[in-house]
Amino acid sequence: MDTVNGTGASRGGGRHAVVVGGSLAGLLAAHVLADHADRVTIVERDRLPDGPEPRGGVPQSRHTHVLIPGGQRAYDALLPGFCEELMALGAPRVGAPSDLVQWQAGRWFRRTEETAHFISPTRPLLEWLVRRRVLANPRIEVVQGTETVGLVGDASRVRGVLLRERGAAAVAVGREPQRLAADLVVDASGRGSKAADWLTAIGAEPPVEETLETGLAYATRFYRADEDGSGDSDVRGHFIVPNPGQTFGAVVLPAEGDRWMVTLSGLRGAEPPLDDRGFTEFADRLPHSITRDWLDAAKADAPALAYRTTANIRRRYDRPGRRPAGFLATGDAQCVFNPIYGQGMTVAAFSALALRDALGENRRTPTTERVQKAMYAASRQAWDISAGSDKNMPTASGSAARSTVADRVAGWYLGRVEARAPGDPAVGRVFRDVLYLTHPVSALFAPRIAKAVLFGSVRPTPQEPPMRREGV
Ligand SMILES: Cc1cc2nc3c(=O)[nH]c(=O)nc-3n(C[C@H](O)[C@H](O)[C@H](O)COP(=O)(O)OP(=O)(O)OC[C@H]3O[C@@H](n4cnc5c(N)ncnc54)[C@H](O)[C@@H]3O)c2cc1C
Repeated sequence: MDTVNGTGASRGGGRHAVVVGGSLAGLLAAHVLADHADRVTIVERDRLPDGPEPRGGVPQSRHTHVLIPGGQRAYDALLPGFCEELMALGAPRVGAPSDLVQWQAGRWFRRTEETAHFISPTRPLLEWLVRRRVLANPRIEVVQGTETVGLVGDASRVRGVLLRERGAAAVAVGREPQRLAADLVVDASGRGSKAADWLTAIGAEPPVEETLETGLAYATRFYRADEDGSGDSDVRGHFIVPNPGQTFGAVVLPAEGDRWMVTLSGLRGAEPPLDDRGFTEFADRLPHSITRDWLDAAKADAPALAYRTTANIRRRYDRPGRRPAGFLATGDAQCVFNPIYGQGMTVAAFSALALRDALGENRRTPTTERVQKAMYAASRQAWDISAGSDKNMPTASGSAARSTVADRVAGWYLGRVEARAPGDPAVGRVFRDVLYLTHPVSALFAPRIAKAVLFGSVRPTPQEPPMRREGV
């Protein structure tokens, strides 16, 4: 980078960037920074597996993950050919609405022609492919099995990180953390980021945190594809989407390796159990027996696992405050969502693209503040969708839970969109485009769509889950 009074990274010179966390957001940020710094060091708490395996530092890696179309574009923009490679490794491609049986807002979606598709690899496969591509760059180094425990610097500038080796030997009494000097530090340490404490410790101001919690609890189990519950239908997956009146959810999707991923969800006090029988019987609480029937016919190949830390949290690093130059936050460390909307991996890539664009701007100095604002903007639509929907759930709590008049007006309009999307292919298409983060929310207000939403009637939808594509 060409400025000292900027983010710290440089378009030339001997600049060093440190990224805390070697998962998706960290890897993608490192990939971008490698074009601007001479060296990038990723500090990762875990020891990274050689292959596509789950790991402790990413507990969600054992749960269903989908890459929505907005994310596909972003990963391909950062790592050309990424999605093709992912599918060549076996990640299924699932067309929407054609391949899906989807229940939402009390209606079954018609299975009309595909207007979008998502990719449903296991999370370890996707992360491993990103890792393999990014770490092929000799400018990027990973320090594994090492935890970042603080920052070096003061309220005006961050100058590095404090590191401690992980494991029993490393916590020996009296062992001081090591310093690693850096011109730029990027926090990509995920949902549990401790950066607010690290900033406070160097005399800087922590970000204001917005939270919205519904107590959503997940349980996920893998099943074998040779004995799944799909029968002879052409269904490639099904979604039961919760709403304020029906708070239970289900996702059934194929994954690579001839397996299916099944995630069931409920709110606080009605969490899905993990034992064989409890998991299957939980599906009786869904609004239709399709998931229960599928589970009864299928054969599991792993125990069910729980995930319960699902609050939406947005850390407002973009707001003014006594915060140092040379420090940025990205991915879940900056903004983390209720996972039910399937957005986090996409936003990690959007943030990397925002970083790339902000650092690549020739006309203006890429100050820390400006870059962080761009990264905040990259997460905004996903936050509006996730937090906006969660506000309406009966268990919603937290600083972002209060609805404003504007929220209520938007909620009224979106309710009409949701009622029309399952039966009207044109509204359904735009609804997906916005949810899948390829189009801005304003697409829902385009004249043709607004006319259907405000004046059109709700078109008929299937009475039962459609087990065949229309027109086939
Ligand atoms: C149950 C569940 C299902 C989800 N499903 C989807 C989905 O379908 N689609 C989707 O797009 N997103 C989904 N997400 C969201 C997605 O998993 C996250 O948004 C994504 O992993 C964020 O990446 P990240 O790199 O910011 O954080 P993480 O992936 O959480 O990684 C953080 C990394 O930082 C490391 N670390 C932490 N602290 C330190 C430290 N002090 N020092 C060094 N290293 C540290 C960790 O070991 C880890 O490697 C889901 C999330 C959950 C919980």
